[in-house]
Amino acid sequence: MPTETDHAKGEETGAVTQASGAVGVLLPLALFQAYDYLVPDGMVLARGDFVTVPLGRRSVTGVVWGEGAGDVAPEKLKEVTALLDVPALPAISCDFIDWVAQYTMAPVGAVLRMAMSVPDALEPERNLKAWQIGDLAGAKLTAARQRVIDVLQSSPPLPPTELARLAAVSAGVVGEMGKAGLLTAVPLALKRPFGAPDADAAGPNLSAAQAKAAGELSTLMPGVTLIDGVTGSGKTEVYFEAIAATLRAGRQALVMVPEIALTPQWLKRFEARFGALPAQWHSELTGLERRLTWRSVLDGAAKVVVGARSALFLPYRHLGLIIVDEEHESAFKQEDGVIYQARDMAVVRGHLAKIPVVLASATPSLETIVNVETGRYRAAHLPDRHGGATLPAIDTIDLRVDKPARQSWIAPSLKAEIEQTLADGNQALLFLNRRGYAPLTLCRTCGHRLQCPRCTAWLVEHRFHQKLMCHHCGFDSPMPPSCPACQSEGSFAACGPGVERLAEEAAALFPDARRLVLTSDTVTGPAKAESLMRMVAEREVDLVIGTQIIAKGHNFPHLTLVGVVDADLGLHGGDLRAAERTYQLMSQVAGRAGRGEKPGRVYLQTYDPDRAVMEALKSGDRDSFLAAEADDRRQSGMPPFGRLAALILSSRDQAAVNAKAQELARNAPHRDGVTVLGPAPAPLALLRGRHRLRFLLKTRRDIAPQGILKTWLRGQKFPGDLRLQIDIDPYSFM
Ligand code: ADP
Ligand code: ZN
Ligand code: ZN
Repeated sequence: MPTETDHAKGEETGAVTQASGAVGVLLPLALFQAYDYLVPDGMVLARGDFVTVPLGRRSVTGVVWGEGAGDVAPEKLKEVTALLDVPALPAISCDFIDWVAQYTMAPVGAVLRMAMSVPDALEPERNLKAWQIGDLAGAKLTAARQRVIDVLQSSPPLPPTELARLAAVSAGVVGEMGKAGLLTAVPLALKRPFGAPDADAAGPNLSAAQAKAAGELSTLMPGVTLIDGVTGSGKTEVYFEAIAATLRAGRQALVMVPEIALTPQWLKRFEARFGALPAQWHSELTGLERRLTWRSVLDGAAKVVVGARSALFLPYRHLGLIIVDEEHESAFKQEDGVIYQARDMAVVRGHLAKIPVVLASATPSLETIVNVETGRYRAAHLPDRHGGATLPAIDTIDLRVDKPARQSWIAPSLKAEIEQTLADGNQALLFLNRRGYAPLTLCRTCGHRLQCPRCTAWLVEHRFHQKLMCHHCGFDSPMPPSCPACQSEGSFAACGPGVERLAEEAAALFPDARRLVLTSDTVTGPAKAESLMRMVAEREVDLVIGTQIIAKGHNFPHLTLVGVVDADLGLHGGDLRAAERTYQLMSQVAGRAGRGEKPGRVYLQTYDPDRAVMEALKSGDRDSFLAAEADDRRQSGMPPFGRLAALILSSRDQAAVNAKAQELARNAPHRDGVTVLGPAPAPLALLRGRHRLRFLLKTRRDIAPQGILKTWLRGQKFPGDLRLQIDIDPYSFM
């Protein structure tokens, strides 16, 4: 967790033209600093202004970042080309970008790029045109041009960038077709994909506990508040009231959710409460939707934004509230490009703007709980499920005693429970958080294991797609006809279960049940998810077999039994948060049962029922479990009681990685309160063909790893394709 002392001071806003006439312009590229440009006569620039500048032969849009650094002779500088006629990037956004870059040690230009993720949003609206098919009489079309026409044949007029992207051609091809009259321009129809939420539309009558929490949040006092409440206790209803208060204050609200939790159900509830849809920010928006949303956030017309972690970097004109729902979710950690923890950065963003931040969860992260205990965060508790629905009873099934048959994974007692549930006319869920048919395929003749050619990972058989797939790099191949090592035919054996294999077992055990398999292979998008989840909710299926895709948010009133096939799955490997995450995932899956009038039961199949996390799940004593986890981490100086930074060194050339790692190891910092572990081969020692070695830097809480790293890495060069990735506050240890 970043602390307030890490806080970089924002620069003053106002005109920044220096006596020399140079300004620093930050470009949305992987650059560690702004570049100097001269300001033409008569142009007045301030921090945050969007400008175009020449860069080599290109023209690039960037942001005025401050005074020029003065490190280049004025006669060598080029002039700013134009000041764009759009609102400036707000001062807090600029400060936030600086802060994130400094904390994550990423190039500040790369952070700016996240904030400027929609370049054409800066084009003047009057230039916004869409292309439709023009006069094709007698035209002979190249393959590229034909693709453009094909796209437009089944689409309304499209803006140039969108058209080029869909047809997989360059912008130049589209432009030339316009000049040749093959395409004609029409004004782009602009309809915003969101409405104007009304704070005073009627909400539900809140319970006493809900009303108390909502009342506190509605004061909009700056600082962080945790809403700690079991699944179904009304956390969403409560934070909706904080949104209402923010709207009344004339400010914008941001709701961050893990992408998979942004469901049509959630949007419907929002619409029911506020009479309009919020602006959405996620990976499936069209280019036009992104443009309109980005611009509306900048000019303040988008009042409520709901989105995945990248929504944090939108250019809010007047942000008044941030909510992070399911704050414990590891999906808030971005693992590539700029590596950051969006929940933690949301807290920073809130702090910079002096606005409230609300974290909501049924199973808060240890970091957050510790922040509540030390008084850094406030907490509101919602102990009960709304409407008196009871929480499901959780029990373990000891697989050492209650053994499944050979090559099967459902214990006899779980089978009996499912039979009873189905006989009673209720629904059951079998949960296995592993995609595909089998995690490992080996040759019975020679023992050869099918491995990804690019990663240290087994290939996973997916019968649904009839392929072998690598879950780390996306490599896939058909099942080879014979063993690549000994050429035996028909000798492959599937080892262990994936959800597809579990479905096969379920079909054999419960042939009369209407079954549905829910995994990311079958749930291919939001529309499909909606229709499949509705089938479950409306009782068109009896037995659901699924991965964690079913664990989020969905409400199944007739589901009364959950069987977790392998509760130990997440506990292997050296992950600091393995037990904590298992607790969170198991609670979340358990929360699917008994949400209606009928009480639910949950069975966790495990080889280690006496483990603390299993005991805690059975007793429901989350707080004692977290206290014990916290003690462990305090004793070992692990986060949040100490700080971690991971360094991942990689190259296609194994010798180069080893040599560089040795060099870094020789220069490793030695001082009190700082430990360097490694270099050690990463668990994924090979990823996408790159050899990987890891260092782990561990510091006392009062020592910032960034400063240590800066000194350590000063002057280090990474030639060839050697790459060094810095991961501050790592969540993945792969
Ligand atoms: P959580 O976010 O804690 O899981 P939700 O806010 O989703 O809980 O509430 C669970 C269910 O209970 C939802 O269907 C919600 O509409 C309903 N609910 C919660 N509080 C109330 C209330 N005060 N009045 C009516 N329905 C409520
Ligand atoms: Zn073989
Ligand atoms: Zn791979």
